Formats: sequence, structure tokens, C-alpha cells
Amino acid sequence: MIPASFVYHKAASLKEAVALLAALPEAKLLAGGQSLIAAMKMRLARPSDVIDIAGLRDLSFVRRERDRLVIGALTTHHDVAVSADVQGAIPALAQLAEGIADPAVRHMGTLGGSVANNDPAADYPAAVLALGASVRTTRRTVAADAFFTGMFSTILEPDEIVTEIEFPIPERAGYCKFRNPASRYAMPGVFVAAKGKGARVAVTGAAPSVFRVVDMEAALSRRFATDAIADISVAVEDMTSDLHASAEYRAHLVTVMARRAIQAALG
Ligand SMILES: Cc1cc2nc3c(=O)[nH]c(=O)nc-3n(C[C@H](O)[C@H](O)[C@H](O)COP(=O)(O)OP(=O)(O)OC[C@H]3O[C@@H](n4cnc5c(N)ncnc54)[C@H](O)[C@@H]3O)c2cc1C
Repeated sequence: MIPASFVYHKAASLKEAVALLAALPEAKLLAGGQSLIAAMKMRLARPSDVIDIAGLRDLSFVRRERDRLVIGALTTHHDVAVSADVQGAIPALAQLAEGIADPAVRHMGTLGGSVANNDPAADYPAAVLALGASVRTTRRTVAADAFFTGMFSTILEPDEIVTEIEFPIPERAGYCKFRNPASRYAMPGVFVAAKGKGARVAVTGAAPSVFRVVDMEAALSRRFATDAIADISVAVEDMTSDLHASAEYRAHLVTVMARRAIQAALG
């Protein structure tokens, strides 16, 4: 039965939030509310209970640990964008955060909420995947390659909470997206990262879920230059076609955005 209303809980601790989630199978976490509230207004989500974790300030931080950057799940997009540690270690990540939506969304929306939601056009999943980040939860640490499983779907269990994300610091990285003019969601966005002889390329806003382009990665591992991938394209049949863009157009834009992301990474 679909509940006509929901019960609001304000979690005082991570432990309490986990216990509430375990006890209430139809409950949803509320972080920044920038995706969940909209989904509830449209009746796309009808949780029996909403568990507000926005007050858990311990989960809002940016910490540099030698060759890693660790960012708490409740860190807002604004706080990532203006963090001197992020700007210094992975400037492409700060720029990505600055390019999300508008100031109102950036001051409320959180890294953990974006990654847990895995919207097909969200920006952060591309960075998490291209940078080979690790997602830490209340149960385990999951590599980015295993975390995103499909449209609005991840490996997270219903009573599992993302607590922080650990990003290895690359030698160079760049992100470029073709913005949806209304929402500024990616359609598509490409994040490129390189360290040593390895390179990773992740695409969002083009298919049901974020994905890597291994042909581009192999070419960039041989030579990190825009023309190295100029002739590589993604399969049109794997792309999404909707009112915003056809599959053919999205496939074309992936290569264009990839070239621009490489250019950005090269400075
Ligand atoms: C007008 C508008 C434009 C937008 N444009 C963009 C854009 O350009 N690019 C972009 O990337 N995003 C965009 N967004 C989405 C925005 O970035 C959201 O903030 C983000 O996707 C979700 O984060 P949140 O903290 O608001 O999560 P919420 O809305 O609170 O939660 C989203 C989902 O994640 C779950 N969740 C939240 N936190 C956790 C956690 N720590 N662990 C486990 N599950 C959790 C919730 O239960 C819920 O199911 C836009 C949103 C709006 C309203």
C-alpha cells in the first residue's frame, strides 16, 4: 500500500540512522534533499519514513592525506567547490562541483547524496569512476568500478550509508560537460584522469549509468593528447535517446567533451 504521508526522523548519530533504516524497510535517508524532495513531490518516491542525516556534521569535511583526498558524504557541492584542498589536489573536481546546477542546489546538495542517487546525468559519478575512488560506507569500502550498478542504482544495501569518498590524487585530470540549458545536468559529461602511464575516462549523461571508455583509456595511456582519441567514438546503440538529445548526438558529444576534458587536463 502507498502511504499517504511519511514520518520524519532527525538522526542524532550515524548509529541511530543505521538502526532506523534497518527497522524501517520503506524509509529513505534525507541529506541535501535536492533529489529526494523533488522525487517525493512528483510521487516518484513515497517513503514511509524520512531519516534526516543533514545534521551529522562529522560527515562534512575535506581531508588531504598524502596522495589521497578524503571527502565526507555530507560535504555540499559548494564546500567541495571552494575547498583549497580540493582546488590544490584535484582542481577538476572543484570545477565539477562549481558547475552543478545553481547556488541554491550547491549549498544544499551533498557528495554522498549524489553518488548514492546515481542519477544517469549527475556529475560526481564520472569523477568517482575516472579517479578510481573508493566509496566508504557504514559496512565496507567499495571500489568505484563495483559501486555503480545501473540507472539510479548502486551496490548499496537499503540500510547502508555512504560516509566518505577517498579520491587518489591524479597527476592530471579534466572534466567537461555539455550542459542541459535548464538544469545544467550533463548531457553528456566526460571526466579524464591520468597518473603514471595509466589513464581513465568516465562518461555521465549519455547512457543509463556512468561508464568507462576503455578504448580512449588505452589510447591516452600511450599518448595523453586530444588527437589521440579524436577518432574514437562510443557505440550509438548504447546511448540514451530522449527529448533532450538523440543517441547519435550524445555519442558525438562524448568524443567532443572527451577532447575538451583532455585539453583542460593539459592546462
Ligand atoms: C534544479 C536542480 C538541478 C540539478 N542539477 C544538477 C547538475 O547539474 N549536476 C548534478 O550532478 N546534480 C544536479 N542536481 C542534483 C543535486 O546535485 C543533488 O543534490 C544530488 O543529486 C543529491 O544530493 P542530496 O544531498 O540533495 O541527496 P538527497 O536528495 O537528500 O538524497 C538523494 C538519494 O540519495 C540517498 N542518500 C542521500 N545521502 C546518502 C548517503 N550518505 N548514503 C546513502 N544514501 C544517501 C537518499 O536516501 C535519496 O535516495 C540538480 C538538482 C536540482 C534540484
